[in-house]
Amino acid sequence: MIHRASPPGMEKAIVTERDQHPISRKQISENALKVLYKLGSAGYCAYLVGGSVRDLLLGKTPKDFDVATNATPEELKQIFRNARIIGRRFKIVHIRFGREIIEVTTFRAPHEADNEIADDVSRRQIKGLDSAHSTSGMILRDNVYGSIDEDALRRDFTINALYYTTENFRILDFSTGLKDMETRQIRMIGDPRERYKEDPVRMLRAVRFSAKLDFDIEESTKQPIKELAHLLGSISSARLFDETLKLLTGGHAQATFALIREHDIGDYLFAPTMEALDSDESPACNLVDLALRNTDIRISEGKSVTPAFLFAALLWPVLTQRLRSESYEKKFDFQIYQRCANAVLIEQLDYTAVPKRFTIAAREIWELQLRLERRAKHFLGNALNNPRFRAGYDFLLLREESGEDLKGVGQWWTDFQIGDTKQRTELIARVASPINRRKRRKK
Ligand code: ATP
Ligand code: MG
Repeated sequence: MIHRASPPGMEKAIVTERDQHPISRKQISENALKVLYKLGSAGYCAYLVGGSVRDLLLGKTPKDFDVATNATPEELKQIFRNARIIGRRFKIVHIRFGREIIEVTTFRAPHEADNEIADDVSRRQIKGLDSAHSTSGMILRDNVYGSIDEDALRRDFTINALYYTTENFRILDFSTGLKDMETRQIRMIGDPRERYKEDPVRMLRAVRFSAKLDFDIEESTKQPIKELAHLLGSISSARLFDETLKLLTGGHAQATFALIREHDIGDYLFAPTMEALDSDESPACNLVDLALRNTDIRISEGKSVTPAFLFAALLWPVLTQRLRSESYEKKFDFQIYQRCANAVLIEQLDYTAVPKRFTIAAREIWELQLRLERRAKHFLGNALNNPRFRAGYDFLLLREESGEDLKGVGQWWTDFQIGDTKQRTELIARVASPINRRKRRKK
């Protein structure tokens, strides 16, 4: 067994011994444990950190396991054959075990330390001088390595800066994380305004954790959000798409969406939807809430949710408004419908870079609405084999549930799916009968 000296900065931690906290090794993913042990036996220190420690303390199942260490990304690559350095904003290392990825980060130092380290030769040697700020104070690159206590203070919220070690099963707290867990507070580490300016996405994270954990956002952490929300405008639409998905697929979409509206953040993620919701009281607006509720239920049942369905629902009030303004309802014209659908999707891309496969699927869900309502003979023959049928049908039922009067079309499709050949023929005859057509035309 290798005996390592405590890493620098350790003395600043508030230590909770193993018999004083509920985390046990059994709750930790095998692969995360492998990473921790292997780093330990290679002479490095390694800790579980972030959401996994937080969620385990709350008795929840962590979504993923993140590890922090004093090994550099390059050293990690040498230790783990299955490691890949991912370098977007931060250099992080992904260690892949089948479908599970353990994310490993090297202890980071605060940016202010860049000047201090000039006279500290030994620290300078372990720190890559690779850090940059934009003129607005936003972090652009952030690969200045540091000690564990510095790493803790570079994290966003106190409850996300708790470290767990398998060396002696202790929890280390360098801020007020454990206290804030008890009082159920999302509290920014350091000056919230500065930290939001450094990375505006932290505003979205505050809201996400508040909804997910049912914690309050501490007053000084909450207070600057409305004023600084506009800084989200400087975040790439690709990152905003990733964050939006996390906001809506974390199992608390309904609560998260309400908080997004409350904090005026929605204008930077889906402005057209927000505008439609603020200016309209049509059933299409209810559909957004219903879709978010259903998403939460599906996730709690372990079912999958597709971003395509979510965006189709979020943009439904925008699409229906646009269709109304183009007098689509009078003409019932497929081309107008398609043109509006495309325009709505393209407009959304300014905010969140929804990948093409999802915009295509969202458009198909919308187009199916037309087809499911019309029930043209050539469509009926093969409708149930349409790969998007289920999503389209679910969407149709949501529209009815939202208050739209579709004259029983949802029930018709339910009957059609479960009916035998004879029943289906009868159902088809009901749609196609000339009497009905005449009746419909008269209306
Ligand atoms: P979950 O995985 O449940 O969504 P998490 O807290 O683990 O929550 P991750 O995005 O996995 O969130 O990030 C892991 C940790 O990295 C966080 O707990 C936090 O300590 C740190 N972190 C992530 N994003 C930021 C950020 N924008 N600013 C500062 N620290 C961050
Ligand atoms: Mg995590």
